[in-house]
Amino acid sequence: MPDAPTSPISSRARLIFSPEELNYDFGPDHPLQARRLVALMDLLETSGLWQSSDEQARLSSRAATIEELNLIHTSDYIAAVQRLSIAEGAGETETEQRKQLALQYGFGDGDTPALPDMHHVCAHIAGGSLVALSAVMGLPEGGTFATEDERPLHVFHPAGGLHHAWADRASGFCIYNDISVAIAHVLQATEAKVLYIDFDAHHGDGVQRAFYDDPRVMTISLHETGRYLFPGTGDVLEVGSGLGRGYSVNVPLEPFTEDDSYIEVIEALLHPLVTSFAPDVIISQHGCDTHAWDPLTHLKLTLRGIQAQIKLAHQLAHSYCQGRWVALGGGGYDLFRVVPRAWSMLWAEMSEQALPINLPEEWIARWRPEWLAVEEQEVAAQQVMGKISALDFPTIFQDRPEDFPEQPRRLSISRSNRHTMGLVRHMLVPPSVRQAFPSAQRRSPLAGLIDLLHLRGSATPSRSKTLETKKGPLLLRDFCPPSLVERLVADSGLQAFARLPEREHQLLLGIARNPDCALTLAHTPTGAIVGEVTLAPGDVWWEGIENVYEVAIEVSSNWRGLGIAHSLLAFALELDALEDMILFAMGLSWHWDIEGIGLSVYRYRELIARLFASQGFVEYPTTEPNISMEPANVLLARIGSRVDQRVVSQFYSRMMSSPNLARL
Ligand SMILES: [Zn+2]
Ligand SMILES: [Zn+2]
Repeated sequence: MPDAPTSPISSRARLIFSPEELNYDFGPDHPLQARRLVALMDLLETSGLWQSSDEQARLSSRAATIEELNLIHTSDYIAAVQRLSIAEGAGETETEQRKQLALQYGFGDGDTPALPDMHHVCAHIAGGSLVALSAVMGLPEGGTFATEDERPLHVFHPAGGLHHAWADRASGFCIYNDISVAIAHVLQATEAKVLYIDFDAHHGDGVQRAFYDDPRVMTISLHETGRYLFPGTGDVLEVGSGLGRGYSVNVPLEPFTEDDSYIEVIEALLHPLVTSFAPDVIISQHGCDTHAWDPLTHLKLTLRGIQAQIKLAHQLAHSYCQGRWVALGGGGYDLFRVVPRAWSMLWAEMSEQALPINLPEEWIARWRPEWLAVEEQEVAAQQVMGKISALDFPTIFQDRPEDFPEQPRRLSISRSNRHTMGLVRHMLVPPSVRQAFPSAQRRSPLAGLIDLLHLRGSATPSRSKTLETKKGPLLLRDFCPPSLVERLVADSGLQAFARLPEREHQLLLGIARNPDCALTLAHTPTGAIVGEVTLAPGDVWWEGIENVYEVAIEVSSNWRGLGIAHSLLAFALELDALEDMILFAMGLSWHWDIEGIGLSVYRYRELIARLFASQGFVEYPTTEPNISMEPANVLLARIGSRVDQRVVSQFYSRMMSSPNLARL
């Protein structure tokens, strides 16, 4: 047994906080105030969740060097920030030059004024995030630890999360992009793949931009739609470019989104996205301007939704990244009622401590007057209207549901969010991963046909057939039940969708358990799965059209070139019942493991088209956004002989209907 830990914090979580990070002041009327972090640290200390004297709970940090900032920011920009950081010189020419410089680099719009000492402060914030990420990745920049058990698994850096800064431009209260600098450092020092999840109410545009064409970084941003909110970007169709296509994920949420809809969306999206990306580390930004009380945005979360977000990030880090997780602050402009409570909740989760029920009285006594001073006018107005109760200072850590009346249009808002979620899944999650993680959406009333097939499968055992190949015999089986999948293992070359054979096996189990899906496998006599065909109801894109099913196929890279795909597909699709269905398959070049095959995307497209053509599939022109975005992508469909003409024409018109994305 190891010695009992000296720290009351049992997990391997640490917090980075340095007073130097507070040393900025955009002015008394600016929404971003460093005081919010003072209130947070005070709450952590007075509630006993964290003590600055506890060495085991702290991680010391430093300023990022110029070279480190240079990983993301241009030298010109860094020089300009340094120059503007120095107190203004005399002479009129000097002032005019400074004005020009400020305008050129994004300091001219009033949102992000140039501040004395800002280079120093922001380099410190960037250094904090860089140290945090390096520490969980085991890099020397993260510090040295006596034993591996002392190395932190989770690091919280509340001053970090400045996600709007660009390579050569300050933007949205952000000067140096601490997140991008930290990620770029890990990319340079390791082979790791990094997942960035941005929960701030504003689109994480700076980080997305920095890694837009990089397949080693997946950025996922959940934010209030940019239709009315800064910075205006973050549309679903921003999916990355070049090799990075498919690795930028945007989930624009409707204004006035509440907890339940939010939780539904994050749960339906994050698991499949993380499964298909298979990251080595997660860095998440927990801007709490998503809260209903935030003055700058229109999202209507309470701490219940924010807590669900925090718990999910924690769970993903343990399920997929051996616990490696860095959490950052970000936006949050209800400085004293929301920020300290939301981020105390985050730290309690990371350090596995129970959140107390009540806020400490001494803390309330210190911070309620600060809040009243900020809210003076608002409070007076509410008093006049006799509504003061709705605007009181909280006394407990959690929110009280009665303080948050139901939003009008709740139903249509959650319906819109569900469509956005469906579109993101459709665009960015490979079919077999999507099928293994069905969204919580109501079950399609059209799933009956698959039931019928399943029923047939259980009345008579699933069909099987032996296939002779040059590498030995294989067994083909359709309607594989979970019990069979459990007895088999995935061949090492079966990894196109989940990157790792064990995870691919988990996916296959998920598909076998899904009553709406049918799974056909090819396996060796010793039980190694070398090929799969899945059949599942078409996703939200095809909603409302009867009996549209998606077919997906994968063959282990160790078993290619033996005609297995052809025989397996023919076997899976030879049932007479399929004549009642429209089957389609999508070849999306960004999911293909082209490097492993040594083929161009066009050659691969041709192979896929030919494979499906052998089973009666025809290539259709379509404006479906996945397909039309990339010339190497292809949509193939086979319309069963008994499908009604009315359904067929619905199907044709849906394929050409994509400009009408909003209708989805
Ligand atoms: Zn924000
Ligand atoms: Zn943990």
